[in-house]
Amino acid sequence: MKSFVTNLEAAIDGTVLPHDVIQTTHEDRPLWVRYDLDAVGRAIDPDRIAGRPPSLWRYRELLPLPDRAQPVTFGEGMTPLLQTPRLGKRIGLGNLWVKDESQLPTGSFKSRGLAMAVTMANHFGIRRMAIPTAGNAGGALAAYGARAGMEVFVFMPRDTPVINQMECVAAGSKVFLVDGLITDCGAIVKRGIEPMGWFDCSTLKEPYRLEGKKTMGLELAEQSGWQLPDVILYPTGGGTGLIGMWKAFQELRTLGWLRRDTMPRMIAVQSDGCAPIPRAFEAGDRFAKPWENARTCASGLRVPAAVGDFMILDAIRESGGVAVAVPEELIAGAMVRAIAEEGISLCPEAAACVLASERLLRDGRIKPNERVVLFNTGAATKYVETVPLNLPVIDDPTAVDYATLAL
Ligand SMILES: *Cc1c(COP(=O)(O)O)cnc(C)c1O
Repeated sequence: MKSFVTNLEAAIDGTVLPHDVIQTTHEDRPLWVRYDLDAVGRAIDPDRIAGRPPSLWRYRELLPLPDRAQPVTFGEGMTPLLQTPRLGKRIGLGNLWVKDESQLPTGSFKSRGLAMAVTMANHFGIRRMAIPTAGNAGGALAAYGARAGMEVFVFMPRDTPVINQMECVAAGSKVFLVDGLITDCGAIVKRGIEPMGWFDCSTLKEPYRLEGKKTMGLELAEQSGWQLPDVILYPTGGGTGLIGMWKAFQELRTLGWLRRDTMPRMIAVQSDGCAPIPRAFEAGDRFAKPWENARTCASGLRVPAAVGDFMILDAIRESGGVAVAVPEELIAGAMVRAIAEEGISLCPEAAACVLASERLLRDGRIKPNERVVLFNTGAATKYVETVPLNLPVIDDPTAVDYATLAL
């Protein structure tokens, strides 16, 4: 199949760069992948896509794979868009949906980005990768790297959820716990590029993870009959997903595939324990200052500084959305409650979005009957630390007092 990529483009100043060699950043800022959308529109249409297998690779004409390149894949299925009436009713939203990314390989939507990044790195002959991670990106790179037979180095804060540590170790990566945050891990990876000869797979430091994350937006559009929702709530760390979806929507609009021209308001959600994006949004800044002493149980949101900060803030503002910080101490409880209501394996990051939806509804920034889509970016089971268990123990299995069980 033919590739429609025309070039890469620096997000900070529009500099055009060639795409037939491996690229990283420009002025230490991210790159966009650009396509010949006229040609894409002549080659493919929604009806043809509808007949393809249900995976993110069905959007191949809008993805960076070069001609004849084979994807590195675990068969990433399309994730379900689930209506959540019980949760919606309690919050006061009549049309609430969850895009459930927990069902992807490695239990988070990081597989979308890393499937693309590893596929492209593999195409360019890269054999040694390194990544700083808040947790799930490391797990995904470990798995996709193993799948491609690459060597993978993972650097994570020492209090990263234990499942993330385990999945990297199990996939054969070299894993290091760092007494610091993801930004400190990022600095270790950056300084190691030369002495270690590895490729830096950090968020937005190569152009292709973004294209993988973009498929969330393509899928959401297709599953919604090419009519985008009114509001998207997105738990924002490095921001790849939010930026990627916004890019997807622009591309779909240019292609003329959208049945309704209104774009969703993009809501970036963070915890008040680490909220650089809401702070910059409220201050009217285009760049976010690093957050001091970042802490949150929603580990994917523990990103004190993002290289794509201006891309996140631009997307929120262009869309008419907002950035919100929710109280850290409410996240774990909101997670357990929402899972009990709908059974969906909601991660703490998504629970932060539930809290944000309640607040925005109260403030009149979301209307009760608007169509709202909340992203569940990972599986609850990856966060064993967040739920205190303290379960009752039956010491004598032959002498159960049934009268007390339902209390
Ligand atoms: C990485 C991650 C996020 C943040 O995603 P970005 O696209 O980098 O902002 C949110 N939730 C989970 C579960 C994550 O792993």
